[in-house]
Amino acid sequence: MRFEIVTIFPGFFSSIFENGILRRALAEGLVEVAIHDLRAFTHDRHRTVDDRPFGGGEGMVLKPQPLAEALASLGIAPKSPSPPCQGTTGDRGTLQGRGAVPQMPQNEEGALQAAEKLVAEGGGGFNPRIKPTESTRALAPEERLPPISPEIPSFSAASLAPEGMHRQEPQPPQRARVILLSAQGRPFTQALARELAALDRVVLLCGRYEGVDERINQLYCDQELSIGDYVLSGGELAAAVVIDAAMRLIPGVLGNQASGEFESFGPPDAEISTDADGVPRSQHGSGGLLDYPHYTRPAEFAGLRAPEVLLNGDHLEIRRWRRQQQLRKTLLNRPDLLENAVLTTEDRKLLESIRQEIS
Ligand code: SAM
Repeated sequence: MRFEIVTIFPGFFSSIFENGILRRALAEGLVEVAIHDLRAFTHDRHRTVDDRPFGGGEGMVLKPQPLAEALASLGIAPKSPSPPCQGTTGDRGTLQGRGAVPQMPQNEEGALQAAEKLVAEGGGGFNPRIKPTESTRALAPEERLPPISPEIPSFSAASLAPEGMHRQEPQPPQRARVILLSAQGRPFTQALARELAALDRVVLLCGRYEGVDERINQLYCDQELSIGDYVLSGGELAAAVVIDAAMRLIPGVLGNQASGEFESFGPPDAEISTDADGVPRSQHGSGGLLDYPHYTRPAEFAGLRAPEVLLNGDHLEIRRWRRQQQLRKTLLNRPDLLENAVLTTEDRKLLESIRQEIS
């Protein structure tokens, strides 16, 4: 699983992936994260990535040309122009390797036209930093990479490496998604994190200032994601949130895989009605509810005693108590989640008594 982040602040991520589970997952090669500096895809002395908005108004907008080139360098070609994506439009196969490397135009109109031409010709991505050499000659038609289609995963028919590197063998299709981080996006949820964890490659575009020129969304993005109903100053924090939430659901990343199921927002089908593994669980997984409260030693702290039921070793009682606490927390903090939660008759009775108790 590989995450690619496109950002104007690559340094932002220097400490984010150096701790805990994320660090281990990276060290063990379960996950890769590549950070791409958007300014590397500019062509002026000032490495300009932004410009004034058409129509006036405050703030600046991230220009389309460096983003288009950054994506092209990752082998991501534009889709045919269509209305901006509102939610999931399906995953795409991804172009692998470096493909044909045409000369990069030095202005934005030229960049977009070149990207479109490349796709029309069935060509792959280009990397402005790779000088054309014998190994980056124009591809013969049978060598060209197919354009990315949201529906049909593409195979890497051929891949040309920079000088000195070997040509790669055809790779299996990849499930990939290009995501624009945006306050205007679809809310990011645990269910979406599970979806991303099942992909091979996720490309995250971090906006800044007033945001990203909408044509980038329209041409390249499969999904526009928001991490909450508030406005951040940039997409980097949001990208880190998305990666953290998705990465821990990749098989092997968490020491105990069940931890990803028996926690807040766990999948409704993660039912466990026994304590077969010796660890008391809630009666039916989290089933889309919030988690129950947790306690550890000492049994008494600052005058507060941990709930007696957790100390008495009766597993059935513990499971009942935990389920009741899940229902209680969810009712108090996120009643909206109850609408889609998997509830038993006993759960409904418990909910009713909690409602009476708190009213
Ligand atoms: N003008 C935009 C609006 O009102 O929706 C806000 C732009 S914000 C200052 C700059 C960038 O931060 C956005 O382009 C986006 O990448 C990121 N961002 C801000 N809030 C976000 C959120 N809730 N979720 C994901 N990304 C967010």
